[in-house]
Amino acid sequence: MLNIYNTLSRKIEKFHPLKKGVVGLYTCGPTVYNFAHIGNLRSYIFEDVLKRALLADGFRVKHVMNLTDIDDKTIKASQEAKQTLKKITAIYTNAFKDDIAKLNILPPTKYAPATQYIKPMVALVQKLLKNGVAYEKNGSIYFNIAKFPNYGQLARLKNQKLKVGARVDVDNYEKDNPADFVLWKAWMPKDGDVFWKTALGKGRPGWHLECSVISVAELGQPFDIHAGGVDLIFPHHENEIAQSEAATGKQFVKYWLHGEHLLVDGQKMAKSLNNFFTLRDLKAKKFNPLAFRYLLLTAHYRSKLNFTWESLQSAQNALNNLYETVREWDKPKIGCAEFEEKFLDAVNNDLNTSEALAVMWNLVKSDYPTSAKAASLLKFDKVLGLDIKKYLGKKEKISTAVQKLLTERAQARAVKDWKKSDELRKKIEELGYSIEDTSGGQKLCTI
Ligand code: AMP
Ligand code: ZN
Repeated sequence: MLNIYNTLSRKIEKFHPLKKGVVGLYTCGPTVYNFAHIGNLRSYIFEDVLKRALLADGFRVKHVMNLTDIDDKTIKASQEAKQTLKKITAIYTNAFKDDIAKLNILPPTKYAPATQYIKPMVALVQKLLKNGVAYEKNGSIYFNIAKFPNYGQLARLKNQKLKVGARVDVDNYEKDNPADFVLWKAWMPKDGDVFWKTALGKGRPGWHLECSVISVAELGQPFDIHAGGVDLIFPHHENEIAQSEAATGKQFVKYWLHGEHLLVDGQKMAKSLNNFFTLRDLKAKKFNPLAFRYLLLTAHYRSKLNFTWESLQSAQNALNNLYETVREWDKPKIGCAEFEEKFLDAVNNDLNTSEALAVMWNLVKSDYPTSAKAASLLKFDKVLGLDIKKYLGKKEKISTAVQKLLTERAQARAVKDWKKSDELRKKIEELGYSIEDTSGGQKLCTI
């Protein structure tokens, strides 16, 4: 049974779904105006491990993810590229789907592009106007936070002075500046041809509105789990709670889960700081995307993790080692109950993936027959998502061409001809392998 940290209570809680056997999971998806960076991808991997843990515990998971295909950033990107909003968001939606497939992230049950939910968004704003918690100003509509006494429950703003009457039109702002936030933005010339003519006037939805509307439309209210990166706690998730709870008087979400940031040189990896890498950058340096997944599994999702190329290299080496080891193994038969129990305990202990990896390595190094280890490892990989099946029992058949290059390289290294050794490494890499020089000689891995 899963024990998980709920940001709402700031405590580890036992997970009990609202409906027996099924979990409603909503995760905030990407803003599709550019490639996702590996910081963003950390959040999606955390959510994937969560989902896989629920599946391993025997639940069915209905997972919904929005795609932000309308906001300030997407409009700006489409204007800069001189492409329609539809075209530009389609390009980056596809790129996102590509990235998550490479990282073995299970796709959601449903992708929900925000622009397909304009009608229910308008209906929610009308409800908030009717309930007296929203008001109009210069054609835009704002949520009046002073009319919602529970405002700040998730971000714990209780002791903060709410600046009554202050308004923000931008989608994102700081925690020390809570203010009435925009639900519906009146059209402005800079929006160009991006607008909807609705009962609320000519304009477009604010960012926070989409997640309230899509999650409840697809999962009902309340639903079980809402997850995202920690930067979303405020204002995004706080505002989602305000919108959904002020509209219905019912609780919005039972468990709020947040993953910590990926850092670079101690700072959050962010597009705005221009300190980011994408999966394409990793690929250009010949890393397997799953080495990045492995690296993330070594840390707890609620701890910050500083990204370095050296740590990625260590993760790649560990993963290669695992792949090479299981190539020699026999076909899976009955597994090792002792290790399987320990593994699930670690996963169910607030997704303790580093402990789960330790259990995995203990299994790999244990004296059980390889057929038993193989059976358990395949079960573990349902949570870890490291593609073990692809390598298990598949003894490598290296072509004679590669074999010849390897021999030449060993000879070059024996006479310390490093230039030639590097040239040969490049040639071997072009044939789809990476080489690790170990004390036992050259170790070959597929890229
Ligand atoms: P965005 O596309 O900017 O809306 O962000 C998508 C997801 O990435 C959100 O869940 C963010 O919380 C998350 N995110 C953004 N930067 C980072 C980071 N450096 N580390 C981890 N998650 C991040
Ligand atoms: Zn959201």
